[in-house]
Amino acid sequence: MGAQQVRDDFAGLYGAEPEGVWSAPGRVNLIGEHTDYNDGFVMPFALPHVATAAVTRRDDGVLRLHSADVEGGVVELRVDALAPESDRNWTAYPAGVVWALREAGHPVTGADVHLASTVPTGAGLSSSAALEVVIALALNDLYELGLQRWQLARLCQRAENVYVGAPTGIMDQTASACCTRGHALFLDTRDLSQRQIPLDLAAEGMRLLVVDTQVKHAHSDGEYGKRRAGCEKGAALLGVDALRDIPYDGLDAALARLGDEDEVVRLVRHVVTEDQRVEHVVALLESGETRAIGPVLTAGHASLRDDFRISCPELDLVVDTALASGALGARMTGGGFGGSAIVLAEAADVETVTKAVESAFAAAGFTAPRTFEAVPSAGALRVS
Ligand code: ADP
Ligand code: MG
Repeated sequence: MGAQQVRDDFAGLYGAEPEGVWSAPGRVNLIGEHTDYNDGFVMPFALPHVATAAVTRRDDGVLRLHSADVEGGVVELRVDALAPESDRNWTAYPAGVVWALREAGHPVTGADVHLASTVPTGAGLSSSAALEVVIALALNDLYELGLQRWQLARLCQRAENVYVGAPTGIMDQTASACCTRGHALFLDTRDLSQRQIPLDLAAEGMRLLVVDTQVKHAHSDGEYGKRRAGCEKGAALLGVDALRDIPYDGLDAALARLGDEDEVVRLVRHVVTEDQRVEHVVALLESGETRAIGPVLTAGHASLRDDFRISCPELDLVVDTALASGALGARMTGGGFGGSAIVLAEAADVETVTKAVESAFAAAGFTAPRTFEAVPSAGALRVS
């Protein structure tokens, strides 16, 4: 849905033009999975799919929320009554951002919001972060808070962790807030230092496909929390603040120290090798060896499947089929247990790969996947 439509629908809903319209994208993660809550490295880029919000500031303590994508009318809340985990609906995401801003001492006294999003929900493409970041950016502008992008991302993460109650890392919100067109974002989640890495696959005759398996994951369910707790246990057993602190060349020694803690061994091995894969991909891209990232992506999938154990039959089928039909590399992306996979392929092979995946899904009796090409797009911005 276009920004003008969102603006018009706001006017129809609330009886006046909005003060402005903002957008924030979903993201796909090229490499660096489940490293963000281990203080490690990630490398997402923004999708062309965005959440768009028309917003007007209010000074009477009322927060009115409406989404074109959800059944039901306008939800009206009072900003001084917002409380963590009090809301199990979609409105918890935008309300959580208002709560987090107020908690941090910013004088946000209400808003009228109408939004619509083209980011598929629950597909591992971070529709939730798009929703949070678009609200945060709008309020930052309307209330002239002067917060920087990384600060908005932190507040959005707090909204999702504490208000919504989903224990996610900092990657998704930072990607939505900080990515730029034509680049992947190399982010150090420990200090939030960033580097924009040029990524123009089309210019080199390649494409990056996102294959949404249509299997819905549920982030706040126990599995994510269990992996996170296991990583924390590993760090504690090894006497480090976070698994980020285990150097790649010290991995074998660290694993030996963990002895027969089999599950922790697997989790630690994934995180440490995944950080190394991110750095490897950055080095390859910066030296122009773009095709060589394919096998690194594929190795990342094997690690998520075998060590971290968060893949599922549909994701494995995308990866195996894509590789068997000529893709340069493929892996699941996002939190796991469903959602999407990414496939790096020569432009000339895209059709063959796509058809092979579709046929394999049909043969396996799985719901047909949705495939689209992902081009590194702009981060959050004010549209009008
Ligand atoms: P993901 O971020 O991977 O898409 P999440 O489970 O983290 O999946 O977030 C999805 C949730 O975000 C939805 O269930 C809904 O509550 C909320 N959401 C996302 N987009 C919209 C939208 N356009 N309108 C209302 N709620 C939305
Ligand atoms: Mg999410």
